[in-house]
This record gives sequence, C-alpha cells and structure tokens, in this order.
Amino acid sequence: MARYVGIDVGGSSVKIGVFDEKGNLLERRKVPTDTSKQGANILPDTAGALTDLDDLLGVGIGVPGPVVGEEVFGAVNLGWGRFNVKETFLGELGREVPIAIENDAGMAAYGEYRQFGGVKGPFVFITVGTGIGGGIVLDGELYRGFHGAAGEFGHMNILPDGPKCACGNRGCLEAVAGANAMKRRLKRKLRKQRSSPLRQGPITIKRMFDAARAGDPGALETIDETATALGRALSMVAGTLDPAVFVFGGGVSEAGEFFLSRIRQAYEAVAFTQTADVAFEPAKLGNDAGIYGAMEAVRHAG
Ligand SMILES: [Zn+2]
Repeated sequence: MARYVGIDVGGSSVKIGVFDEKGNLLERRKVPTDTSKQGANILPDTAGALTDLDDLLGVGIGVPGPVVGEEVFGAVNLGWGRFNVKETFLGELGREVPIAIENDAGMAAYGEYRQFGGVKGPFVFITVGTGIGGGIVLDGELYRGFHGAAGEFGHMNILPDGPKCACGNRGCLEAVAGANAMKRRLKRKLRKQRSSPLRQGPITIKRMFDAARAGDPGALETIDETATALGRALSMVAGTLDPAVFVFGGGVSEAGEFFLSRIRQAYEAVAFTQTADVAFEPAKLGNDAGIYGAMEAVRHAG
C-alpha cells in the first residue's frame, strides 16, 4: 500500500511516522539513536526500519542541524559532520523515492503550519524547552535562510554580558529563557525564600509553573523574567518578518495560557505599534510536529 514516511531524528531516538496518501498517521515506529562511530549507524538503522514498506510515496527527514540543499552542516548531538543526507539515506534504503530533508525545528514549524491551515502571511514557530529554536514559513514554504539557520531564535543576543550559552556566546535568548536558565535563576531566588514549597524536592518546570499559579513569588518572578526576555526577542522578530502568528511549542510552552499571556504582555509593551496585535497561539501537534512536518514536506514537495 502507498505510504508516506515522516522521520524525526533526535538525540536519543529516531521517531518514525507511517502515513497514508492523505497524510493520516497509521503507525509509529521508533529506533534508538546510536551515536557511536560519529553516528554512522543512524541512517542505516532508520532505513532498516522501513524495509517492509514496499510502496513508498516519499520520505521526509528532519535532522538536528542546519540544512542547506541536501546537506546537513553537522549535528553535534549525533556526532555528525557535514554530509549529503539524501544520498546516504537513499543508498541505505536501496531504492529511489522522493526525499525531503530539513532541520528538525523547521520540519516541526512546517507541520504546525499545515495543521493551522490557511495562515496568510509569515508563520513563526518557536519552541521553548531546554533549548530555544523554531522555524519560519513564508508564502507556504519553509524558509531556511542562506546558511540553513533561519529560525535559530535561541541565539539572538538579548542580554549583553548575560549568562554563557552552549554556543559560546553570552546573553543568548536560550541562555536567559531556556528551561535550564529558568531553573538556575529560581534556585538562586529560593535561597532567600524560606517558606517556598519548592525548596523541597527537585526543581522541575512543571513544579515551577504550579507554584507560580499558587502565587509563589520566586517562581512568578522567574517566569516573568523569562516572558520579558521572550517578548523582547519576539518584538525583534516582528520587526524583521511582520508575522501573522507566533506559535509556541516545546516543553516550557506546555504551561499554556498562563505563560503565553505573560509573553504576550511583555511583547506588546515593546513591539512596534503596527505589529502589536499579532496572534499568539499554542502549538497543536506537541511532540508529533516533527514527524507530521517531515511527512507534509515530502507530500507537498515539487
Ligand atoms: Zn547561543
């Protein structure tokens, strides 16, 4: 039977969705990510999980690194350097099928874009979790940029001499507003906040938001600082792209309206008047955005 496949290559597992020709998800598969030997087994293992699918209409693959053309320019989490993903994958698959390759956050952005349906104007997807990233869809097409780095919102520099970022710079959005940065700041505040229930047990993002909802001052302050940083960064994105909508995904964004309304408030306080009323929406696909986007990217290619 004719099938599309959407693949999301992650640091711990490769998620695979098998879809019918209309894009309905029929089946999920998962392959552990083998990062030994510079990740040389990852694509062979993934292709190996598709051998029973005899009539492939197309395969979309999202990879955690910048993509230009058919090439990934390295993926540190996987041990990958620069190489042609399409060529390698087709070699492992042993047959000719249409392939779409994109950055994983870009695939997720495209999946959400298709899910939202009919958004006119630039569509901006931002994930807030341990890392901050995202993707941009312009005129119905994923926008990669010249270096494959469009939508890397996490490394917009927003705080001079701010906390150190994994990329080596200081004061990146991710280093200020990512999940680890939030936990670090909250821990510091809790030293002075003797009565906070958050002092007992491990600090998680969920506990932080639950405590904030119950009025915990340290948790509220941490979340407001984060919302301020995100709002400011998004005002810069709006000044560049003038989007129709900002869609929020990722672990931290699961806190929902409580968080989004605060980001929105911070955004409105600094955004250029003309762009102040852009829509803020929660993502619809959760962790499945990557496999859906990969499927849609190959289904709508060419
Ligand atoms: Zn950075």
